[in-house]
Amino acid sequence: MRVLVIGSGAREHALALAASHDPAVTALGCAPGNAGTAALAEAVGVDLTEVSDIAAAAVRWKADLVVIGPEVPLVAGAADAVRKAGIACFGPSARAARIEGSKSLAKEIMAAAKVPTARSEVVDNPAHLDAALGRFGPTWVVKDDGLAAGKGVVVTGDVERARKHALMLLDGGHPVVLESFLDGPEASLFCLVDGRTVVPLLPAQDFKRVGDGDTGPNTGGMGAYAPLPWAPPGLVDDVVSAVVQPVVDELASRGTPFSGLLYAGLALTTQGPQVIEFNCRFGDPETQAVLALLRTPIAGLLHATATGSLADHPPLEWADGAAVTVVIAADGYPGRPRTGDVVSGSEAEGVLHAGTRRRDDGAVVSSGGRVLSVVGTGDDLAAAREQAYERVAKVHLPGAHHRTDIALRAVRGEIVVPTG
Ligand code: AMP
Repeated sequence: MRVLVIGSGAREHALALAASHDPAVTALGCAPGNAGTAALAEAVGVDLTEVSDIAAAAVRWKADLVVIGPEVPLVAGAADAVRKAGIACFGPSARAARIEGSKSLAKEIMAAAKVPTARSEVVDNPAHLDAALGRFGPTWVVKDDGLAAGKGVVVTGDVERARKHALMLLDGGHPVVLESFLDGPEASLFCLVDGRTVVPLLPAQDFKRVGDGDTGPNTGGMGAYAPLPWAPPGLVDDVVSAVVQPVVDELASRGTPFSGLLYAGLALTTQGPQVIEFNCRFGDPETQAVLALLRTPIAGLLHATATGSLADHPPLEWADGAAVTVVIAADGYPGRPRTGDVVSGSEAEGVLHAGTRRRDDGAVVSSGGRVLSVVGTGDDLAAAREQAYERVAKVHLPGAHHRTDIALRAVRGEIVVPTG
């Protein structure tokens, strides 16, 4: 099977690395990839902003399976274009991807499927903002209705800050979603979905804020771990039956079946798991931790998902133990990241590349905000965490920053799921 991974982040590096271990894979490409994927997959030139270019690259490269990583091309219809070209594609249609591309549509689908989630209102007129803010908070949750790379959300106890963020979005022509605050530890559950059948992966937790102790602005994600030692027994089955399967059935009944990876971002509240958001693709950085533990050959699994045959696929196999991912970000991230710095130590085991490129002189240099994802595994979460940070210490990038507390509260047993 010739497998072409679309994207250029550490998520795509993790997908390509997993595919490189699958004996069914005869050729591996990554389009456009980065300095890390180039070591294990052929770099295929592509313009990610053009869905027709993605499909043309897949045809030219003679791909048997295309795996689309990022949400932007999915929402733009890249999976439709690849399938139209007669190639199996892992990733939802543009219409199904709207579950991520429009938070207000996601809310409507959840209401129809009777899935527990935060109360919300859409505001598209600044004149209605103050009254709407008065119906929420404290704490206020203000979101961009559309895609914002994880950076469109402000969660704040300060109504002025909430108002400012909402006005900034409205000024830019973006409708705003206000939500009630969900209190409880967060979990991410990734599910493979072939239109009907749901196969959950290990639950994970990610760290969205830039700073230790969950301080500072939201980012695309600064680290993650899997599985969740604190998860209540039966959590995954409960979420599949109360959240994921009803949404999958609702999408199918609307004539927009979901095929690919459906990511449920959850808060585990006193009222049980509630949905914070859905994403239509593998999450970054959780994927880097989850795939480090997957023992089932991935290409066959993603191909079964893409071709509607998940029900016939054997059960997934996982390594015992845990995995931790720590993101190394460039100076200035998540604001204006500095690029062009030389990265050293990035060829080591467990180091996945995101914003990197190889300069003409052969040096690996930073080319984006999140530069590397460093993964450690171990018999338990403490051991995985230790290995991840030992590996982080061996990487050098001037001005870089990373969180030092990824998985720490879980290791210390400080995460408590409230019971109703
Ligand atoms: P999102 O882009 O919707 O995943 O939001 C980013 C982050 O904001 C989430 O991971 C949560 O930490 C936080 N967040 C979003 N919505 C809520 C909510 N209703 N209550 C509490 N925290 C939230």
